[in-house]
Amino acid sequence: MKIGFIGLGNMGAPMAANLAKAGHSVRGFDTASVVVDGVEPVNSATEAAEGAEVVITMLPNGDILRKVAAEVIPAMEKGAVLLDCSTVDVDSARDVAAEAEAAGLLALDAPVSGGIGGASAGTLTFMVGGAPEGFAKAKPLFDIMGQKAVHCGASGNGQAAKICNNMILGVTMIATCEAFALADKLGLDRQAMFDVVSTSSGYSWSMNAYCPAPGIGPHSPADNGYTPGFAAELMLKDLGLAQQAAEGADADTPMGAAALALYRQFVEDEDGRGRDFSAMLLRFESRGRG
Ligand code: NAD
Repeated sequence: MKIGFIGLGNMGAPMAANLAKAGHSVRGFDTASVVVDGVEPVNSATEAAEGAEVVITMLPNGDILRKVAAEVIPAMEKGAVLLDCSTVDVDSARDVAAEAEAAGLLALDAPVSGGIGGASAGTLTFMVGGAPEGFAKAKPLFDIMGQKAVHCGASGNGQAAKICNNMILGVTMIATCEAFALADKLGLDRQAMFDVVSTSSGYSWSMNAYCPAPGIGPHSPADNGYTPGFAAELMLKDLGLAQQAAEGADADTPMGAAALALYRQFVEDEDGRGRDFSAMLLRFESRGRG
């Protein structure tokens, strides 16, 4: 396939490289000049989009996505697929999809989970919103860049799934960290705490697969000085998107709001920036109630 790839950062570069390695013809553009193995560099988003059967975007936020989409949509051929893999607000995803469809294109929002490791290894999970016809066209590309693609329904539903999942993740990570800090203060050994909770009703992905306590459970960023992994500021971004969506939809999300406030404090005032989101444990273990 002829593919245009726009946004060759930490995630986009390895995703584009995997598509090229699989034999697709990939033209890449990033505002920072980036060189990616097997990807032909071009000088603008429009140039990447011209003649492409699929244009993939992997960008920082919804405002940038809207700007890039306004440039590439007029340059794309009718029937081509605009496939956004960034994590953005649901409204931006739906507005961009509506503009693309009005121009005769197929549009998909397909945010990912799996992080930089998953992008490099081609093991991402895609949560996809948009028409089934677009999903079918993009499926071979999902199979190269990832291990799983779930079609979640209409445009915007991929982003909805992503922020709901990450709202649960943020809340459960905080709950796991504060429980470890409480257990410490009660004199409970961390290994014993893990052995009980990971096989009891408090278990979760945060405890069982990504334990925030160093030396406990499977290998995780806690065992690597809390080097991300999934950075605290990315969790902050996703929790912000969840609250933005909740306000728009009049959904009551008090735990999500509390998680947003704690991650904001952690990133902005408590040395959390640049650390994995599980470093939240350091915050709780160093504090009392006051
Ligand atoms: P990044 O900042 O490394 O990459 C974004 C890239 O977009 C940069 O290289 C930047 O130069 C480029 N860019 C910005 N404006 C542009 C424009 N107008 N035209 C072309 N290129 C432009 O970010 P990332 O970590 O690769 O994340 C990309 C997206 O994936 C984000 O939406 C993020 O929330 C999401 N995401 C990231 C992770 C992760 O672990 N890093 C995990 C899941 C989802």
